Amino acid sequence: MAGERYVYRFGAGASSDHVSRELLGNKGSGLVEMTRLSMPVPPGFVISTQACRHYMESGLPAQLETEIHEALRWLEKAMGRDFDDAANPLLVSVRSGAAVSMPGMMDTILNVGLTQSNLAGFAQQGRTMTVALDSYRRLIQMFGSVVLGVPRSTFKEAMDHAHPGHDEADGAQLSDSSLQTLVEDFRAVVLRSTGGPFPDNAREQLRLAVQAVFASWNNERAVYYRSLNGISAHLGTAVVVQAMVMGNSGAESGTGVGFTRDPSLGTRKLFGEFLANAQGEDIVAGTRTPSPLSSLERTMPEVFAELTSTVELLERHYRDVQDFEFTVENRKLFLLQTRSAKRSATAAVRIAVDMANEGLISRKEAVARIAPASVSEILAPQLDFASGTPNPIATGIAASAGAAVGRIVLSSQEAVHAAASPHAEPVILVTGETTADDIHGMAAAAGLLTAHGGATSHAAVVARGMGKCCITGATALTIDLARRTVSAGDVVLRAGDWLSLDGSTGRVFPGKLPLRPAADRNEALETLLQWAEELSAFDVRANADTPQDALRARAMQARGIGLCRTEHMFFAPARLPHMQAMILASNLADRIVALDKLLPIQQRDFEDLFRAMAPYPVTIRLLDPPLHEFLPALSEAEARLSTARRTEEYDAVHHLSAVCERIKSLTEANPMMGHRGCRLSISYPEILEMQVKAILQAALHIAAEGYETVPEIMVPLVAGPEEMSWIRQQIEAAAEQVFAAAGHSILYRIGTMIELPRAAVCAGSLAPYVDFVSFGTNDLTQMTFGFSRDDSSGFLAHYLEKGILKSDPFITIDEAGVGSLIRMALAQIRAENPLIKAGICGEHGGDPASIEFFASLGIDYVSCSPMRIPTAQLAAAQCTLSGRYDDFELPASHLTGVASIQPTPA
Ligand code: ADP
Ligand code: MG
Ligand code: MG
Repeated sequence: MAGERYVYRFGAGASSDHVSRELLGNKGSGLVEMTRLSMPVPPGFVISTQACRHYMESGLPAQLETEIHEALRWLEKAMGRDFDDAANPLLVSVRSGAAVSMPGMMDTILNVGLTQSNLAGFAQQGRTMTVALDSYRRLIQMFGSVVLGVPRSTFKEAMDHAHPGHDEADGAQLSDSSLQTLVEDFRAVVLRSTGGPFPDNAREQLRLAVQAVFASWNNERAVYYRSLNGISAHLGTAVVVQAMVMGNSGAESGTGVGFTRDPSLGTRKLFGEFLANAQGEDIVAGTRTPSPLSSLERTMPEVFAELTSTVELLERHYRDVQDFEFTVENRKLFLLQTRSAKRSATAAVRIAVDMANEGLISRKEAVARIAPASVSEILAPQLDFASGTPNPIATGIAASAGAAVGRIVLSSQEAVHAAASPHAEPVILVTGETTADDIHGMAAAAGLLTAHGGATSHAAVVARGMGKCCITGATALTIDLARRTVSAGDVVLRAGDWLSLDGSTGRVFPGKLPLRPAADRNEALETLLQWAEELSAFDVRANADTPQDALRARAMQARGIGLCRTEHMFFAPARLPHMQAMILASNLADRIVALDKLLPIQQRDFEDLFRAMAPYPVTIRLLDPPLHEFLPALSEAEARLSTARRTEEYDAVHHLSAVCERIKSLTEANPMMGHRGCRLSISYPEILEMQVKAILQAALHIAAEGYETVPEIMVPLVAGPEEMSWIRQQIEAAAEQVFAAAGHSILYRIGTMIELPRAAVCAGSLAPYVDFVSFGTNDLTQMTFGFSRDDSSGFLAHYLEKGILKSDPFITIDEAGVGSLIRMALAQIRAENPLIKAGICGEHGGDPASIEFFASLGIDYVSCSPMRIPTAQLAAAQCTLSGRYDDFELPASHLTGVASIQPTPA
């Protein structure tokens, strides 16, 4: 397209128009912006992503050559150096950079423009021959592998051969004559490998390098990274061509990377690494272990001070933590990159809260910035040192928090293979250095451990992005690939042995340590959740059965309990016998004796629960599971019976035969659709009566202590209004007895769980009998699909694999089917009585995608397990902030003077 522009310049005298990140890529846009802010940035130009898209479709655009030529002329002028001037050559880097950050996934080539013939000239322009030779051999190496396709290992072998024991990146430490030989060796490698000489022409190098960077958009690891992160293949990369500054110019030069805040914990402290006398690739590739940034503060305090103030400004400018790259040439600082930093979930939360408190962003923005699903990682397990801390075999850099326990694998392929095996056990990928090629292995492994590399090597960055525990730079480790061992001192571990990583401290332990849940409290998270709670239009409640769960849920701002499963209280060893006696009772009188023993126990449970959750509502579901669940398995009871017969314990024989008979009589072919839920209340109203009394007496009791509470009695598995109306009468009768005995009443509510399709279809007819409804989406999904919750995972895997279902309906709500039932039920109920509250209490209540759907229906609350409350809380706030919540409004006629059917008078 004529007239379209592909090249954008940055530097003194370049236009400072704003150009979009989509066109310039992340890196290019950052460089343009830093230049606009008058920061020290070597000048250059950006070839836009549009050119890359053109290149992918139909080759390089025709006018691109001219545009690059002109921009280059401008750059030569700006730098006072010239591509064609052997006495004073210009060197550039050719850098990749898409609009979304893909750390280390594409290629960058440094020192482009150096040739045999301008080496000496370059050395004389204030640089040394050492720098010239080291830069040239790096160019051959990088250009050779990236552009000419020479395997990297060939250069490494040539290096090892000529200078055994020398690290690939250590070239700058060699003497000039050794470097000269290395250059010859590398040129020979290129000749051997490609059949042609290394291109010793600056313009030719530039042309080929630009094309290679475009092509690297489709290299294997970039493609894989995009698929893993859902990045469109169509975007393309921009190319930055930038004047080189030489970090490998001696002890007063070097290169570094850093973060304006700690990307692992979020602490507000400059964090980073510096490598003296080196070029950028050395740090990023993780081939050498750098020193902390504080070393720069010691060696070049004025450079450190300038860096500190510059990146602080960057952080304020972008209003987000920056991940920056810089180079120092002879005590002069140059910024080479800035972008929003990838960070662990722990850091993300801490940083968002701190920035809001610092006034840099609003609370809304803090809440909006955190991906809801990511916060579950904060509550991820940690190593459990309760029974002592063993001696670590090594301590590396805590590159990504969390913990991992798994078997040692020594390559990405092994990790992938191990994870795919049918009896997969977790594996820990242990490698010498972190390279971007390890991405498949990292995705498959539970954790990552490297002997070299720093906290900013790109594999460490990727690990943080994946929320995976990672330790880098554990230099005490020796990895012997031939013997398949990992050793540290005299400890020798083999591939397949267990290893435990503590990603928060960088310690590596031999063996399989126990894991424990993360710290109960995280202050920053609790603050963020408080803001989220204040911002959201609907509540998040907890599915909680114990006071401990209730307290944890409250710390995370849960506004009540949406589901308390009373049966969980009956399984405790001290209680089960009474429950069993109740079930085994052959007549009503015996059953009531057993129930009378259970009542005070239940009542105390409820008191504790109400106290923990006061003043918020607590929804208690009446007994739900089939009774056989409280009895032992038939085979077990029969075994005990025959033992009793052998030992002639006649009382036991008598009891156990009754037990066996009862188990047989309770056996159902299809218990999940059997004698359970409200059907139990209809067969045994005395159970319901005991539970209602326990609930209301508990509420009265703690009200007398001064606690506020609103008990909500929820009837499970209701199919229609006839059941509900009968049960409501029973509940009210029991309540009246309690209130009469106490001499006063309290507010309570009666509601039902909508978990059968019939109840959803007839929901309007339930309205006269309920104060609230809660959609039990687990059973509703099971009953709507006819997929057993307990047995369907096997065939569901095939559905998902073949794309017949897009997602597991037990994880993310099936909007078309189950979702339609919910929408229909809500419409009916609201038409009858808009004051009836409606919530969600299935597992979907903690799934962000499902929450978004529920929000669009204007639900009053979602309830989920305590672990998932943070996720739900953020999802709820974000739905509200983005306007995805349907603010269901009461019709005007209901706004005044209409009482609900709430409290039952005494
Ligand atoms: P990546 O996307 O892998 O980080 P970059 O394009 O940022 O690749 O390049 C990697 C490193 O190369 C940079 O961090 C920097 O240290 C070095 N580098 C890039 N361009 C230049 C330049 N013009 N002068 C000096 N060093 C450079
Ligand atoms: Mg970079
Ligand atoms: Mg259910």
